[in-house]
Amino acid sequence: MTDDADFERPVRGSRWSDSQSRAALQAIAEGVAEIAGFDVVGIAAVRDDGYLHQLVVVGPEDARAALLDSLAPAQPLLDQLEVADDWGPLKFVPHDRMVLDIDKWGWRSDAPGDDVDPEAWHPDNLLVAPLYDDAGTFIGVLGMELPRDGRVPSPEKRTLLAAYARQATNAIRVTLERERLADQVRLASAAAEIVRMAAGSESADEVLINCGHEVAKGFRADSLWVQFLGPDKRCDGPLYVDGGATVRLPFGVRALVTAHAQRAWERQCVAVLAPERPMPGALAADQAETVLEFLASVEVESLLFVPIGSGADCVGVMGLTRGPLGAEWSEYEAAAALDIARDLGRSMREHQLVRELREVAEYRERMVATVAHDLKNPVSAVLGYAEILAGDPDLSDKARTAVAAIERGGERLARVVDDLLALHSATDSDPLLDPGPVDLGRLAGELVELNEPAATARGVTLRMDQPGEPVVARGDAGELDHLVTNLVSNAVKYTETGGSVAVRVAAVGDEVVLTVTDDGIGISAEDQAKVFDEFFRSADPLATAQPGTGLGLAIVLRVVHRHDGRIEVESEPGRGSTFRVFLPLA
Ligand code: ADP
Repeated sequence: MTDDADFERPVRGSRWSDSQSRAALQAIAEGVAEIAGFDVVGIAAVRDDGYLHQLVVVGPEDARAALLDSLAPAQPLLDQLEVADDWGPLKFVPHDRMVLDIDKWGWRSDAPGDDVDPEAWHPDNLLVAPLYDDAGTFIGVLGMELPRDGRVPSPEKRTLLAAYARQATNAIRVTLERERLADQVRLASAAAEIVRMAAGSESADEVLINCGHEVAKGFRADSLWVQFLGPDKRCDGPLYVDGGATVRLPFGVRALVTAHAQRAWERQCVAVLAPERPMPGALAADQAETVLEFLASVEVESLLFVPIGSGADCVGVMGLTRGPLGAEWSEYEAAAALDIARDLGRSMREHQLVRELREVAEYRERMVATVAHDLKNPVSAVLGYAEILAGDPDLSDKARTAVAAIERGGERLARVVDDLLALHSATDSDPLLDPGPVDLGRLAGELVELNEPAATARGVTLRMDQPGEPVVARGDAGELDHLVTNLVSNAVKYTETGGSVAVRVAAVGDEVVLTVTDDGIGISAEDQAKVFDEFFRSADPLATAQPGTGLGLAIVLRVVHRHDGRIEVESEPGRGSTFRVFLPLA
């Protein structure tokens, strides 16, 4: 807080601008002027930076012009009241006890003072009612000047004045408290706005573009600045002003932000940078000058400097600015700004994580596709030559065993390569290449036939309930082929000798439902949650005994999503499984 000596007019407060509250206070002041017979009556509220803000003034034009919205430090007034005469709620300081410089502190009429008659009103007299809230905190002051009869109030008049002041103080107290609450609501809404925007935005830049202005308004600031720090913690990008990326800070200021942001974040420290304010201790005199010069060049009177971060990391800084007519920053505002900076930091961290995850996923897709492509030809060559070798009648038994092992390994490798390529071709985000009507009943019938030999070899009965008429889905025939094949071959593979598999296709409502049921080994509840993950294979020895890549159901799921469908699994270990696929009817 600045002391009395530093206080220079005009310093104006702009925070208290709720016109309803002012109107209520105005009415009270007018009442006091009228009934108590004073020419000048004013009401001021204490702000949390320790200044009194003159909210209403009733009186002649020059008094109003000088006093309205002025700011004055509260402490010198309280010190002065220590020597006042106690008139109940009113305190009176005769001019000869006044040390307060009334020219600086309030308004003084030009009327000459009468030093001889102690009952004559002297323009340097002070008559005020200090106001306290329920907790005894000093919240404001009602001041009176220039009694119309030109006399210091008589004892009878004091009693009347005291009664009136008591009533007025209650009304003022209520109004000030309402204003204080409104202030808190205003800042809370600014904070809520950031959180709301951050949740729905693609990037931190977008958050700023969308709500920078709202936040500035919430703080009654002229503008909101945001400067991000790069990965090397340097301040290099543009400065965002009220949401839009605009200028670059001058070199010297950028260097200071780089040097101080991280430390400010670690200490959770907010600073006010303004002329005639004590500068944060971290700034040397020449650095403070650099900052003030820059602020003056952009017509900013005061800047609230707030670090933005998440966890231990500072990711940028935020500035709220006020021009020459702006109020001082209150502690409450500083705390709210830091809260917002935390929300902003968290949202930036989340956006960054999402971006990194997306990059990793894209990299993995690319890598898998490249490797699978490059493996396809050599694997085909290995299998082809192995087949030629196997057909050679002169092969020794030892060589024949080796060739058979090569064939088994090669086939397994070929399956993995095919599955990887199928998985890649069914990337969720790409649109379907050639969607058309596909008779799923017929497709499933053909694929069941194709799987017949494998089922017979395992001693599993494979059955298809053909629908009476075509059941047509809209989609890609090749991808739907993959989907049905994977579900049917899994059912056969994970069902033991003597078991059975049933496949059904039916139209239900506006959906095509494909059901593949087996009475095989089943899937535990825990595994059911993971079977659609890429490369997941159950640890159940009955399942691992069968060859597989862990990619079949991942492909199924992607195909289902690409066709706007859904899939369900129902299973019980030892009893079997049912997979149900729902696709939109064509
Ligand atoms: P895999 O190539 O291993 O069959 P999938 O992605 O098709 O890969 O299936 C993943 C895992 O789900 C399988 O390893 C198996 O443990 C389990 N699973 C899939 N279908 C069935 C089924 N019909 N019955 C029992 N377990 C199944």
